Amino acid sequence: MKISIFGTGYVGLVTGACLADTGHDVLCMDVDQGKIERLRNGQIPIYEPGLEPIVKHNAEAGRLKFTTDTAEAVAHGVLQFIAVGTPPDEDGSADLQYVLAVAKAIGQHMEDYKVVVDKSTVPVGTADKVRDVVRAQLDHRGLELEFDVVSNPEFLKEGAAVNDFMKPDRIIVGTNSDRAEEVLREVYYPFNRSHDRMIFMDIRSAELTKYAANAMLATKISFMNEVSNLAERLGADVEAVRRGIGSDPRIGYHFIYPGCGYGGSCFPKDVQALARTAYDCGYESKLLNAVEAVNYAQKHVLFDKVSHYFQDDLANKTVALWGLSFKPNTDDMREAPARTLMESLWAAGAKVQAFDPEAMEETQRIYGDRDDLQLCGTKEQALRGADVLVICTEWKEFRSPDFAAIARALKEPVVFDGRNMYEPQMLDRHGLLYYAIGRGRNQ
Ligand code: NAD
Repeated sequence: MKISIFGTGYVGLVTGACLADTGHDVLCMDVDQGKIERLRNGQIPIYEPGLEPIVKHNAEAGRLKFTTDTAEAVAHGVLQFIAVGTPPDEDGSADLQYVLAVAKAIGQHMEDYKVVVDKSTVPVGTADKVRDVVRAQLDHRGLELEFDVVSNPEFLKEGAAVNDFMKPDRIIVGTNSDRAEEVLREVYYPFNRSHDRMIFMDIRSAELTKYAANAMLATKISFMNEVSNLAERLGADVEAVRRGIGSDPRIGYHFIYPGCGYGGSCFPKDVQALARTAYDCGYESKLLNAVEAVNYAQKHVLFDKVSHYFQDDLANKTVALWGLSFKPNTDDMREAPARTLMESLWAAGAKVQAFDPEAMEETQRIYGDRDDLQLCGTKEQALRGADVLVICTEWKEFRSPDFAAIARALKEPVVFDGRNMYEPQMLDRHGLLYYAIGRGRNQ
């Protein structure tokens, strides 16, 4: 099947590559010329495990092509996937300018039936807006072409995106058109063979499903962070509490890890956008607002701990920082807790020596050269001459470090762990003071 994808970011590129991998003929379009040139030269602009080989393999086989030419992309596919960004607007609502720009382009160039698929995360009612924009362009051209607009939100996780796309828990499709349903069934057939993973529903419900899923996950995190803050004040260990509550199958062990706050391009903006949607329809979502407020505060917890340790005097202190990306296995720094920490440390006069296995280039791109940031080639290098160590991301290579070497390298043998990666006794044995999240008093 011929498929066009607008946007070659985390979602668009993974979608394009995975669909091409099952034999579809995919053309990916992006307005970012640099990105398209790199992709044409076999370079992958993002770090995503397993993505590079399938992009290369399918590009070489001629099933995956890249363009900046909108008209060419509209002409190519019967399916027109919209996978562009929907960043937060000033009031927290999703900014639809990129989505609607693609809709306009489709209306300007289409010559035959198209299924326009909203894969970007978009507020309820966006499919109607996309339909209106396409229709207005067709009216302008004096054409009466048929098309359908479908909601097909994406649930992949950065860091495991290829696997998630290839083996989805579910494929949500919101449509009121039998014709579009048939096309979607065909395109997703290879991902649906072992059992039916497709869930069809009306368009508005599909749009809301994506926000509800992310809001639920964010709520779990903020809830556990709230419990961790209580644990600190009550002298309890949140890790014991986590194991205790997770054993109840109604709660489960998944996604109840306390930490230094959630980041990334999805949870923060999607919780805010859903709260805004609620507000716009006259409903105040107390829960969503609280989830957001708890997370905002949680992103400052590590700084508060470091600052408290140094009695609020961080001038001329150097902090070793392990982990910059918002979670492991990605180079994505959007809304990363490490950014909140670094910016607070800098504002307080401290210096940062940072290491991340994949996000160094992205950090350099965001912050440029500055005297108070040194990007180090290894995690050991980041420790050299630093006063204390802070960990923001639970990369695998941080799981079993040489604690004795950490104690030797730091001026003060103190580790602040924003991801509760270690057993406190282990660090104790190596003479390291350990501050984690929610692990008893004096934390
Ligand atoms: P991204 O920022 O990585 O990529 C978006 C791409 O769209 C960019 O390359 C940009 O240049 C391109 N673009 C902008 N305007 C365009 C236009 N008019 N035509 C063609 N390309 C255009 O974004 P992303 O992380 O891939 O997210 C895309 C959407 O998917 C968002 O709505 C996001 O909420 C949603 N989503 C993201 C994830 C994730 O883990 N990143 C998961 C599920 C859903």
